[in-house]
Amino acid sequence: MPRLNHNEDYWLYTCAYNSSNKERKISSVKILDSTLREGEQSLGISFTKRQRLQLAWMLDYFGVDSIEISPVISDSHFESLKEMVRAGFSAQIISHGRALPEDIELARKCDAEWVAMYHSVSDIHLKSKLRITREQALERSIRAVEYARQHGLKLRFTVEDASRAEPSYLNSFITEIAKAGANRIGIPDTVGVMLPGGMANLVRLARDATDLPIDVHCHNDLGLALANSLAAMEAGADQIHTTIDGLGERVGIASLAEVTMVLRLLYGVERNFRYEMLSELSALVANYTGSQIPHSKPLVGRNAYTHKAGTHLSAIISDPEAYEVVSPREVGNRRRIVFGELSGKNGAAFLLRILGVESTSEISRKIARGLKNLQCGDLFEIELPESRELPHSMSSGNKKEEAEDEEQAKGTRPESLQAEANVEQALRAR
Ligand SMILES: [Zn+2]
Repeated sequence: MPRLNHNEDYWLYTCAYNSSNKERKISSVKILDSTLREGEQSLGISFTKRQRLQLAWMLDYFGVDSIEISPVISDSHFESLKEMVRAGFSAQIISHGRALPEDIELARKCDAEWVAMYHSVSDIHLKSKLRITREQALERSIRAVEYARQHGLKLRFTVEDASRAEPSYLNSFITEIAKAGANRIGIPDTVGVMLPGGMANLVRLARDATDLPIDVHCHNDLGLALANSLAAMEAGADQIHTTIDGLGERVGIASLAEVTMVLRLLYGVERNFRYEMLSELSALVANYTGSQIPHSKPLVGRNAYTHKAGTHLSAIISDPEAYEVVSPREVGNRRRIVFGELSGKNGAAFLLRILGVESTSEISRKIARGLKNLQCGDLFEIELPESRELPHSMSSGNKKEEAEDEEQAKGTRPESLQAEANVEQALRAR
């Protein structure tokens, strides 16, 4: 059972629920970030060469394994790739292009070691987009793979629109591409139509066709990109494609923050990512493009750590873990408390304490009623420091510790195995 980073009882149960359906143990998985390629296909997103280099530097420092960019788009992209290769990043720099000699040549001119080439494999793409037969598609693709290999390049081959391709054709296509010399196979859900189970099936099909490592690239058209990326990983894919904030064509792909944090928190995958940079990476993209990070974006959005309802507020003041699975500090975000008609007496009492005013239960109740009667919704918000920085009077952390000591003294703390057994028993009893 993968270990979570928390030893609290509630995490043991969470872990037991989550582990019951996992297909295989995940100990490591790679991250390819495509903000500079897929991300730039997002409406309104266009970076300058300088901005691309800054983002590449930060992504490398964050710890992603590969960074993808396409030199085919413009001279500026070509120059960006060239400089990224020259910069000597730890991350592998991937030159993305079509399965055509001219795109491979651009990669060579930039001294790239790795290329990623793609070719459609679904009938709808072959007929409507390329107007070629399945045989022509395979022949063209094999030629491109051989061309790249003859010129000493390593390559990933992405079977575009795999999730709508005829399975036996897809299987033989992957087999032939592998035979021709590809080093990796990319399995995309190009239009985001897979269910997690379907994505796992697709990866298994690819696994049957080849032993090569598999990338997975899931689009978010129906909001399933994260779930599908994880299902693909559980079925055997070893590299997940992400972008900052999930940017990309239409509604994009899986987000870097969500994928990396889920891997760490729920799969126990130990990578030395600098998670605390996640909010900064989002803010940088927003700053460069004049766009806004969606407020409701998990982990990095403004609302991710904003607490409003009175009951939540009182729990957060007592112990942030009551409503936060990852602390805001860990992802470079901030905790906020909203005061207004939903604050309740606990919120009112907290507000008074911050202001240094001695409060009684009666005063807090009156203020809470007053806030409600104003009928103005949210009045204002404040940033709340991490609990360990709260003055003792603001935090009841000590009470929590005392309660824990008591529990331990009673010997009632469930161990992970007991938690697992409890969950299994409950599931069986349904
Ligand atoms: Zn894509």
